[in-house]
Amino acid sequence: MAIFQQLTMRMNAFSFGGVRTLTEHSENVASRPRIHLLRCMLLHIMRTQMWKFLAFLILVATAVSLYAQQSTAKPEDTEVWQPEPKVVTPGATLGGAPSDAIVLFDGKNLDEWVSAQDRSAPAKWTVADSVVTVNKAAGNIETKRTFRNYQFHMEWRIPENVTGSGQLRGNSGLFLASTGPGDAGYELQVLDSYNNKTYVNGMAGSIYKQSIPLANPMRKPGEWQAYDVVWTAPVFNTDGSLKSPAYVTVFLNGVLVDNHFELKGETRYIGQPFYKKFDRAPIKLQAHGDPSPPISFRNIWVRELD
Ligand code: MG
Repeated sequence: MAIFQQLTMRMNAFSFGGVRTLTEHSENVASRPRIHLLRCMLLHIMRTQMWKFLAFLILVATAVSLYAQQSTAKPEDTEVWQPEPKVVTPGATLGGAPSDAIVLFDGKNLDEWVSAQDRSAPAKWTVADSVVTVNKAAGNIETKRTFRNYQFHMEWRIPENVTGSGQLRGNSGLFLASTGPGDAGYELQVLDSYNNKTYVNGMAGSIYKQSIPLANPMRKPGEWQAYDVVWTAPVFNTDGSLKSPAYVTVFLNGVLVDNHFELKGETRYIGQPFYKKFDRAPIKLQAHGDPSPPISFRNIWVRELD
């Protein structure tokens, strides 16, 4: 403000001095309004400049304050040390079961599985040469255990001598939650989709008749494929209404094919999907009725996430 007052005083002195000079030398009284106008303009300019100067000072003060705060912050302020993640030993090979996984099939037996049609009966698929092969006559099989949210790994192979086309070529399925016998539940399609056209929401990598895979990374028949899945189960209210839908993320042969896909309900061959209340559910493998030679599975494991 001192600067402003000084400038104002100088302005006044200049303008009055100017009036006196004009009066003495020209005695032209009519020039006074012009001098007054000039004085007003200069005062206005000075006031405007003063406000700009004050705004600049506030800006500088704010910047200095922020800099001071930043300079006192430490890296440790944003470090979090608890809770520590549990130690998990990864599989010895890529795709191998981590130390905290439940191994559902390791090439030896089907002790973790039962018939989906009759849960008191054993799973009667064929185990040989460290792989399990679908027995179509025996029907679907599912896990003895039930799950909610999980990470899942499974490898599968379409036989080299596969026959048929479309949905009749190496069809099977991974039911992420089995909600009853038969094909009740939420199916991630298993199919030969290597140079085999079918409806795209029914090819390998699709949530059957709900999602279109983001890519088709299939290997040819005779080679092993791998599914890696993150399944978030739907949650229901006590009255049976849906609280939150199911989500799934799927990698096929390491390529993302479903990215946090929100399911519309149970997958259905005919009709629209719908949700039906359940809590925990087995994981199911499909014995599809198509006449093509049966497919095989190996290295199946799951990590519970709740
Ligand atoms: Mg299927």
